[in-house]
Amino acid sequence: MINIAIDGPAGAGKSTIARMLAADLGYLYVDTGALYRAIGVNAMRRGADTKNAEQVAETLPSADVSMRFVDGEQRVFLGEEDVSLAIRTPEASMAASNVSAIPAVRDFLLDLQRSIAAQNNCIMDGRDIGTVILPDAQIKIFLTAAVEVRAKRRYDELLGKGMQAEYADVLAEMIQRDEQDMNRAIAPLKQAEDAVLVDTSELDLEQSIDAIKRIVEEKVS
Ligand code: C5P
Repeated sequence: MINIAIDGPAGAGKSTIARMLAADLGYLYVDTGALYRAIGVNAMRRGADTKNAEQVAETLPSADVSMRFVDGEQRVFLGEEDVSLAIRTPEASMAASNVSAIPAVRDFLLDLQRSIAAQNNCIMDGRDIGTVILPDAQIKIFLTAAVEVRAKRRYDELLGKGMQAEYADVLAEMIQRDEQDMNRAIAPLKQAEDAVLVDTSELDLEQSIDAIKRIVEEKVS
């Protein structure tokens, strides 16, 4: 199977780019952040403090997280409930970042991610795909952009979805999430040694996709 790992901070454009590229190549697009979000939502619903490792670990046996692919689109389930929308709120983003620093949570999600990659040609995006989950991925990309640019993109996206948001809040949340994701003890966000760095600060979506397509074509051919 061919696996493409795309890692990087929130708002760098990973999911949009990975989804379009996957459609182009006929690969499965796997968004691993959705799994951490589902664990975070499950923990919140059960009244756990998402920063408390013990409390979150107690919710894991009840976290029946699965991914289902409907027409190539990933949906995320808790038991039989489709939580694909519920995991997209700002609270769920912060809960995901909190629970993702807990080793028991990362262990809990490891096999699920590896088995999908073993069974499918896929583009998997996250924070530790190239470093921890799929160290042997044929192609690794580290996608980033300046934090102000990423916050503006996320702000526009929230408004586009009809959600209420303040740019300053989105920026503050993104700075806090970057800080947590890069400085945690386990599987921190960092570029794998063999990953190609792509900075999309000055690129629009089309240019970003072109840049990544070139990298993929070079490595696959
Ligand atoms: O990518 P997304 O913003 O949906 O991820 C939500 C949170 O889940 C991130 O802030 C990060 O803390 C965590 N995450 C992770 N490892 C991954 C994917 C996401 O720790 N592979």
